[in-house]
Amino acid sequence: MRVVVVSSEVAPFSKSGGLGDVCGAIPAALTRRGHQVVTVSPRYGSIDLQAHRITDTGARFGVHTGSGRHDVAILRADRDGVPHLFVEHPMFSGRRGLYGDERGTFKDNLLRFAVLSRVALEVPRRVPLIDGAPLGEQVVFHANDWHAALVPVLLEAVYRPLGIYAQAPSVLTVHNLAHQGVFPGNDFASLDLAPRWFTPTCLEWYGNLNLLKAGLLTAEELTTVSPTFAREIMTESGGFGLDAILRIRHDRMTGILNGIDPTEWNPATDPHLDRRYDVTDFVAGKAQNKRALQAELGLPRDDVPLVGSVGRLDPQKGVELIIESVPWLAEQGVQFVLLGSAAPAHARYEHALRELERRYPNNVRAWIGFSERVAHRIEAAADLFLMPSKFEPSGLNQLYSMRYGTVPVVRSTGGLADSVTPLDPQQDHGTGFRFEAFDGAAMRDALYRALWTWKHQKDRFLRAAERGMRKDVSWDTAVAGYEHVYQRASHRRGGL
Ligand code: ADP
Repeated sequence: MRVVVVSSEVAPFSKSGGLGDVCGAIPAALTRRGHQVVTVSPRYGSIDLQAHRITDTGARFGVHTGSGRHDVAILRADRDGVPHLFVEHPMFSGRRGLYGDERGTFKDNLLRFAVLSRVALEVPRRVPLIDGAPLGEQVVFHANDWHAALVPVLLEAVYRPLGIYAQAPSVLTVHNLAHQGVFPGNDFASLDLAPRWFTPTCLEWYGNLNLLKAGLLTAEELTTVSPTFAREIMTESGGFGLDAILRIRHDRMTGILNGIDPTEWNPATDPHLDRRYDVTDFVAGKAQNKRALQAELGLPRDDVPLVGSVGRLDPQKGVELIIESVPWLAEQGVQFVLLGSAAPAHARYEHALRELERRYPNNVRAWIGFSERVAHRIEAAADLFLMPSKFEPSGLNQLYSMRYGTVPVVRSTGGLADSVTPLDPQQDHGTGFRFEAFDGAAMRDALYRALWTWKHQKDRFLRAAERGMRKDVSWDTAVAGYEHVYQRASHRRGGL
């Protein structure tokens, strides 16, 4: 199959979270299975052309929106056999941020991502890719999150009425339903679409525009990044206002748990670690990495349990529960290391964590910022990894943790519920500890059980860690799921 993956983030070129990781990994895994895949994403100012060996394809064309014509150049970098295409336009390359800067979200994001979607739809027709020829119309468009959700809409509204892409289906993947691309209804004019697309069956949403909702209603197939999240979002409490829309399309929705990049996240080859290890020597390997991290952070090198946490400091991630529970952790004599950063709106989390570090200098380290290196070192050094998310479409860090022999303590939601099986007290089974209710007491209860097991049943604890290391968290399983979805989508348009 020929697949065009459209995303606002493609790691390692651009990434603010799991979206980037996934859109970097799926194309490579599909290519390994013999498909022809390209990605289309913006060339942000933060993407270093030289470092990534990005070259100019020479392709130039203009796309139209309500505000006029936008001329773009198409750049390209090849990685793992995947041509990654980049949209070069001053709206992207003139700014370092993906979605905003220190002053907040960019005001023209609707236009920026409308241009991304319009360009992506032109790529198979205009950009020479195979022996100098473009991909052609027999493609599957795989759009990701709201930034690319206009792709299915534009296919239906602009191309198919002209007989173009008649058999090219679109698949829309929801990585995070909390962000829907909602803009004032008056901005509809800037999309340059006929008025009938600003209706409740497409873009209109309580008088506003809602790009994700329109994509959910028009794409041939939908996916989200775990089976449990696929079910949760069809309920009122988990649907972010879109549950009714999703229920209408329940027969189009498939939940596919994310995998991880086995080359980047492999304790046997990880360049960030003091000592590399695998499942045969993980106890000694982790102990050495723990001592190294303790030394680096100026924590006493005691043999106390080390609890790690990495992620965006966002209400989604249950940061309140963590902040509330740090004094309790310190009382238990536990060490707690957190790496994360907050959007300006949530800067209070950074202050609170820094304050906790001051109060508990022997027990707490809050590393505020974004650092791949520190993320890898925490995964390798910690005994337990804490992820008390309010909701979690898939979650990657619990998968990295298991790969690194670090036992996850997670709230039982979305992809966390699908990937971490609870340790069974009676039988030797399970890879982590789970709790249900989104509150601090429930989280501390799970942590208590985990810490108790670490102290009093070390063998059982280590066997859980070992099972985590042996678990299949590769993309190859996940990608077979995407293949099925692409096939179903193609059938719906009379293809394949
Ligand atoms: P989300 O996509 O909701 O942010 P995921 O767990 O799916 O959550 O993916 C988060 C990704 O971003 C992981 O690869 C994680 O390691 C990384 N990450 C998040 N915050 C940081 C940080 N401060 N430093 C380094 N990596 C981070």
